[in-house]
Amino acid sequence: MPSRVLILGGTGEARALALLSMNEGHDVITSLAGRTSGPLLPAGRVRFGGFGGPEGLAQFVREESIDVIADATHPFAAQISAHGYAAAQSCHIRYVRLERPAWRAQAGDAWTSVKDTGEAATIIPPNTRVLLTIGRKAISPFVARHDLSGVIRMIEPPERQPPARWKLILARPPFTAEQEKALMRAHDISVLVTKNAGGAQMASKLQAARELRVTVIMIERPQKPPAETAATPEELLNIIEA
Ligand code: NAP
Repeated sequence: MPSRVLILGGTGEARALALLSMNEGHDVITSLAGRTSGPLLPAGRVRFGGFGGPEGLAQFVREESIDVIADATHPFAAQISAHGYAAAQSCHIRYVRLERPAWRAQAGDAWTSVKDTGEAATIIPPNTRVLLTIGRKAISPFVARHDLSGVIRMIEPPERQPPARWKLILARPPFTAEQEKALMRAHDISVLVTKNAGGAQMASKLQAARELRVTVIMIERPQKPPAETAATPEELLNIIEA
């Protein structure tokens, strides 16, 4: 029986899920926050922008006769996941999640796990050269420390230009481990700050850090609502169809 599936998107996995679900005959709408310019679009119908909180999302679910919310958002997008869960509860429909596994430290890694960017910024030793790869929203606790410098890499430009002691690089992954090593060497980086996003595409910076003995400050994932969760689009589709 085909379902009407609302995919909360913004990731490569969400695009893969949209294509797979459509190929299996389901009726799919993907929702994107609409923050990035020229986003990669999934197959099928796409809507853009916030819903106006959990009530707005619940209203959309009712208007579109959605059967299941498939949350395929980024592991750090905690608010939209909480809203998806709440909307599903209030509309008495299923909320399921597609979540890529978190990275785990391997032999040779020097990682310190922290709960958020604020904690990450406080534990960096004085006068350190840092590579920040945490997106554009959370750089302020780092640039507020006058003894830190280095490279800030993100996809879209930040709202405010960082101070001159930071080099801003706008670039979209993937990057090879060789490219990551060259970047770390060229800028004399000794600490990498990253979010535990998971996924193969972004893991090359961790390999580079391991090989160059760069310390990693790993910001761990926020808690998401309880749900049937799959690591791949295929597994999630099995859950949806069960
Ligand atoms: P967030 O903090 O969880 O959500 C903030 C608000 O943005 C939500 O309350 C919602 O507004 C709106 N929103 C977020 N995702 C949406 C979606 N897929 N469809 C419609 N509205 C959405 O999210 P975020 O961390 O800013 O991330 C925004 C988007 O970028 C997500 O779709 C996520 O998958 C993607 N992304 C995030 C990261 C990251 O590191 N956070 C990285 C890569 C991609 P309303 O309350 O008005 O509905």
